Amino acid sequence: MQRVVILGAGFGGLELATTVSEAVGGDVDVALIDKDDTFVFGYSKLDVMFGRKTADEVRLPYREIAKPGVRFLQETIIAIDPEARRVTTDAAVHEADVLIVALGADYDLDATPGLAEAGNEFYSVAGAERLAEVLPTFSHGRAIVGVCGAPFKCPPAPSEAALLLHDDLSTRGVREECEIALVMPFGTPVPPSPDTSEALVAAFAERGIEFVPGRRVASLDAGRSVAVLDDGSGVPFDLFLGIPKHRAPDVVLASGMAEDGYVPVNPKTLETRFPGVYAVGDVAMIGVPKAGVFAEGAARVVADSLIATLRGGEQPDPYGGRGSCYIEFGGGRVGRVDVDFFSGPNPTGTYREATTARVAEKHEFGSSRSARWFGR
Ligand SMILES: Cc1cc2nc3c(=O)[nH]c(=O)nc-3n(C[C@H](O)[C@H](O)[C@H](O)COP(=O)(O)OP(=O)(O)OC[C@H]3O[C@@H](n4cnc5c(N)ncnc54)[C@H](O)[C@@H]3O)c2cc1C
Repeated sequence: MQRVVILGAGFGGLELATTVSEAVGGDVDVALIDKDDTFVFGYSKLDVMFGRKTADEVRLPYREIAKPGVRFLQETIIAIDPEARRVTTDAAVHEADVLIVALGADYDLDATPGLAEAGNEFYSVAGAERLAEVLPTFSHGRAIVGVCGAPFKCPPAPSEAALLLHDDLSTRGVREECEIALVMPFGTPVPPSPDTSEALVAAFAERGIEFVPGRRVASLDAGRSVAVLDDGSGVPFDLFLGIPKHRAPDVVLASGMAEDGYVPVNPKTLETRFPGVYAVGDVAMIGVPKAGVFAEGAARVVADSLIATLRGGEQPDPYGGRGSCYIEFGGGRVGRVDVDFFSGPNPTGTYREATTARVAEKHEFGSSRSARWFGR
């Protein structure tokens, strides 16, 4: 029996295990390994942060996974030997015929001096939970939503946080007493899509949100409550909502698979330079943004390739680098951007207007994955 070992049960790992199980569940032994006992959609962190849902309401327990051929193992991966396709966890050693690394990106708070002491982050569930307690106490002064390094997950998320913060403060009747600034290293909010960026910049202007493009937050001066940007300028704040610098998990960096921080792969097949070893999602470096939809698309290509190999069929089309991301504009409206990274000479993106109807579309995006991956 083919031994498939999937490291990480996030967007990439869950889609891979599901697709393989559906097609050839009886003929493979898939070990799906994650240190956590639950999965949380990235965008659910915004719901938690703004008190729309509790952390418990957005957690999807891995114990609900019931797929032929798939064993979920809650173990922490402590070493990966890509040459031998051998993985050591805190509980066992796993030998693989095919090894897929889907361990996502971790946050490096220490890379931004002062962030851990003087700031908050909303990119982890714990950080979002903390902010759910802090935000109701913020009623005057300046809030900064600040990006501390690129690449970062879900490029529209900082814009969404600024717009939802506007709503939150307005609902509480304190918007007039507060300022909101958004600092990000890109020149526009969603670089591949000028239309989407234009819509977001217009939304910032309508709401009096100051947009500071082309800048990264380099450090926080806790004593003075000032965010120091990468050009040396300082922006005072009373509340800092940070997007920490990202990096591949330590276990990946220690494995020798990474170059320049992430795992290089063939962008068409997701193969690493190690035979039988693939990397998908945020941990890989292929020139698409770090977002669940891209992790999922890459995982499908790897799954289809494994299925074709097992069945003796044709190999799948190369990975296309296409995906759609939903964007919360606030006021109960959601927009969408359909991006395509590989079809043309440059990435392109098409903006789908923010409407109330698209709230249901975004909900369907999440519920269809919950159903497919967790049988809900
Ligand atoms: C605020 C926010 C909003 C977002 N909104 C969207 C959105 O609207 N649409 C979208 O497509 N994407 C969105 N994203 C991005 C999306 O969540 C990620 O890009 C996506 O989860 C990446 O999938 P992945 O499979 O590569 O990694 P992940 O989903 O991060 O999964 C990696 C898994 O590996 C596990 N792991 C890591 N290290 C170890 C170890 N040593 N041992 C065992 N297990 C380990 C982790 O526990 C994790 O479950 C958002 C992200 C954030 C933070």
